[in-house]
Amino acid sequence: TTKVERMPNWLKKRAQLTPNRPAIEFDEKIYTFLELDLLAESTARKAAALGLQQGNTCAVLIRNDIRSVALIHGLFYLGVRIVMLNHRLTANELTWQVKDSQADQLIFDAVFSEKGKQVQRQLPLLKIASMEVVQQVPEDNQARIISEYVMDETATIMYTSGTTGNPKGVIQTFGNHWWSAIGSVLNLGLTEKDCWYCGVPIFHISGLSILMRNMIYGMKVVLAEKFSAIEANKMIQEKGITIISVVTTMLNRMIQDLGDEGYPASFRCMLLGGGPAPKYLLEECKAKQIPVYQTYGMTETASQIVTLSPEDSLEKLGSAGKALFPSQLRIEIDGHEAGPNEHGEIVVAGPNVTSGYLNQMEATEKAIKDGWLYTGDIGYLDSEGFLFVMDRRCDLLISGGENVYPAEIEAVISKHPAVFESGVTSIEDEKWGQVPIAFVVTNKNHVVTEEELLMYVKENLAPYKVPKYIFFCEELPRNAANKLMRRKLKELGSRS
Ligand code: ATP
Ligand code: MG
Repeated sequence: TTKVERMPNWLKKRAQLTPNRPAIEFDEKIYTFLELDLLAESTARKAAALGLQQGNTCAVLIRNDIRSVALIHGLFYLGVRIVMLNHRLTANELTWQVKDSQADQLIFDAVFSEKGKQVQRQLPLLKIASMEVVQQVPEDNQARIISEYVMDETATIMYTSGTTGNPKGVIQTFGNHWWSAIGSVLNLGLTEKDCWYCGVPIFHISGLSILMRNMIYGMKVVLAEKFSAIEANKMIQEKGITIISVVTTMLNRMIQDLGDEGYPASFRCMLLGGGPAPKYLLEECKAKQIPVYQTYGMTETASQIVTLSPEDSLEKLGSAGKALFPSQLRIEIDGHEAGPNEHGEIVVAGPNVTSGYLNQMEATEKAIKDGWLYTGDIGYLDSEGFLFVMDRRCDLLISGGENVYPAEIEAVISKHPAVFESGVTSIEDEKWGQVPIAFVVTNKNHVVTEEELLMYVKENLAPYKVPKYIFFCEELPRNAANKLMRRKLKELGSRS
């Protein structure tokens, strides 16, 4: 017989242990864990009245809002699997994910009504309801609230960002979320003063994992509807925020807004993940004594799997750290383990790692072998075992036999004062096989020529890494997760 691992319903347990502790602050109102439990239970009973029950799958099109948080917990209370949709996707893209996940219902925030209805037009059998309707429907008092969460059961289905191809539905179990939260706290620690600022979307793993830590740790979370650098800085300086999750563009804007000011000593962690962390940015933060911790993770690992630890954050600038306590990491080259400083594919394992992609046997078998997830990212471990993430394997280019990583070139170009952001890809070249080319968006009111920029790059990079051409453009192609899509740059490059 196999042992089924169960735990008490997490939010209910939390509301029982520490009912009066502040749980979520949203829109200047504070909700305690007891109040959050009541909201969640009420939402669960309303969702049940709409026909949702244990074993169903419900897709949600939500924004950061207290009602969305209550909906997520409420669906867990019913034993309903949640498909987390990114509201920046088009109706067609959403339709594909709703269909692929075989969702029984779609619940959407009123601001996304148009998209919700467009999805239903393409899937006439799909039941839909806006959050307003959910709020208005009378509660079903007969609905059964789940008293235990089963670790192996699917809690959420979350699609990858689709940076490298079509998004894949990642199965995330309660156990995956649990171990992700535990791995994080065993690294960062926890104090009774901790308060995590969530300015990242809760439909994405970066935000959802904060909601998990919220109830598992009993830690207060300040939820922002939209990220604003000014607001985030103010919250850290005046409202006792101790930890914030950011991606590079958010951090860039926060530093610009910060100017010569700093953060109070109580602010202990700027958790930076989601994409490459340019060295110049990390150095700037170090000079300003901002405690940046680089982290590496993905939808498939239910958020962080490798994070720099507090004691190494200054010494190992540029590194993403070591695998968290419950997890493992190795670098592979052609089926064997790489030595120190050798570049290869990052391969990870741990109880936070997904068991696979929904309805995608082939993709699952390709990505997960023997319980190890092949991430498709390239990196290396230094002699002390610290991970340095280079880039995605599919973006790597080989020029005259040398490996070239677009992220490294982008980091150098973006450091130029006239440059707002840059994207690098490759084109075929008769002599070298492939050569890098760059696309640049300049800062407002800054003028710079291709020659000037190339000169600058030549001073900072080996000749084979210098782009053959630099194109100026208004904006870079990004996906709904705001990630740079280099495959789109490639199309632009071949047309230019
Ligand atoms: P898709 O899998 O559909 O192409 P995606 O990989 O962008 O989309 P996510 O799961 O949101 O979807 O992103 C995880 C990826 O982000 C990682 O595999 C890695 O490429 C990148 N990433 C995350 N953290 C870092 C980091 N510290 N440094 C460099 N890249 C990172
Ligand atoms: Mg991916």
